[in-house]
Amino acid sequence: MRFFNTYSRQIEEFKPRDPAERKIAIYTCGPTVYSRAHIGNFRAYIFEDLLQRHLELRGYKVHRVMNITDVDDKTIRGAREAGTPLGKFTAQFKEAFFEDIETLRIKRADEFPAATDQRYIDRMIEMIGPLISRGLAYQADDKSVYFRINKFPNYGKLAHFDLTQLQSTGRVKHDEYDKEHIGDFALWKALDEEDGDVKWDSPWGPGRPGWHIECSAMATALLGDQIDIHCGGVDNIFPHHEAEIAQSEGVTGKKFVRYWLHCAHLLVDGQKMSKSLGNFYTLPDLLKKGYTGREIRYALMRVHYRAPLNFTWEVMEESRQSLARIDEWLKRLREVAEKENVQRPTPNAQRPTRKFEEALDDDLNISAALGFLFETIRETNRSMDENELDAASADAWLDWWKRINTVLDLEAEAEIAVPPEVAPLAKEREKARREKNWKRSDELREQISAFGWEVRDAKDGQKLTRRGAS
Ligand SMILES: [Zn+2]
Repeated sequence: MRFFNTYSRQIEEFKPRDPAERKIAIYTCGPTVYSRAHIGNFRAYIFEDLLQRHLELRGYKVHRVMNITDVDDKTIRGAREAGTPLGKFTAQFKEAFFEDIETLRIKRADEFPAATDQRYIDRMIEMIGPLISRGLAYQADDKSVYFRINKFPNYGKLAHFDLTQLQSTGRVKHDEYDKEHIGDFALWKALDEEDGDVKWDSPWGPGRPGWHIECSAMATALLGDQIDIHCGGVDNIFPHHEAEIAQSEGVTGKKFVRYWLHCAHLLVDGQKMSKSLGNFYTLPDLLKKGYTGREIRYALMRVHYRAPLNFTWEVMEESRQSLARIDEWLKRLREVAEKENVQRPTPNAQRPTRKFEEALDDDLNISAALGFLFETIRETNRSMDENELDAASADAWLDWWKRINTVLDLEAEAEIAVPPEVAPLAKEREKARREKNWKRSDELREQISAFGWEVRDAKDGQKLTRRGAS
């Protein structure tokens, strides 16, 4: 297996820390919960999902941590503007995040540590202490503690950044006068009146952690001093991941991460997504347009993670068609597999291979893997058209699909039984509609919705679907 390592800018053979145990520790930077995540964020999370599932298909045991940033400048500003306590403000976006990853069939990480959890705040403070005593950090006149980047010779290696450039182009902002170097970043931010009551005690006075130290603390607390793979979006490389290396290695003295994998941007109609351009989409925006979670999953997954993904409505339509082709193919295979084996044996019949996994072994080349899937669909469909696929072969292809679908997770959901708490409500709503009691009917729709089910009214009666299902 090979991956492109941002640190070396090279494709490298993947060698985990512990090849015998086949255990892999992965850290992925999670959402900052100050607003609902947009589809660009989910592109990165789907890439990480694909990575984890492929490693698992290849027999690795993955331990993945994804942090939740629930205290930083943006969350504090958002809470202040909303006039809500920080915890209450971020809770709604945490909930929305978990709802969205479920809709997109993203496998949950083993742990979702939150930065405001006291044990991680303690860990951050525990890390800052030694950084100061080793001269890698200092408390400035503004009482904040900064990392001294000049004392960490490897600073800039991940981003392939020349520090002298940073100096010459650096803009000195008002609050940066206290720092020794323009690139020094805050480990601990001294209490500012704008922070309100968002503060913790520390040996350097009341304040709050800087964003970068949050990830170093949670990663090392849960995964140890050294991890196999660290992922994120390309915009995390500098300064965030660079800072994570400096902090973690500054404390432990060990190489923090073996492989850095970064996902490219998502564009919409060839442009950067932005609220002002009106091309900014969250998952509910797309669901409202009638697309399902798996269609969106497919659209965000189909392009290699290091290539920019251009999101358009044509892409959504193509994704819908591609999934329909898969659905239709599976249906035909199942019909053939159930038939008595009356066809003549076909010595030249295609048999499942490992080409799909091999494509993913090559730096997660999903385009090649999907290309192979659709080539397979074309060929087996042709055999079925000519009545040349026997039941055993159909079965073998179905088994193959089952295996690759542990990575893709793209199969249409089978009809899911309506749960017992929803069924009577649905029945009552049908009655209310017959009696033209629209008010009651709407109330019942709300109650059904609270259980995660949606009601749609069609000509032949109401239809119940589970939210986010296809
Ligand atoms: Zn991070």
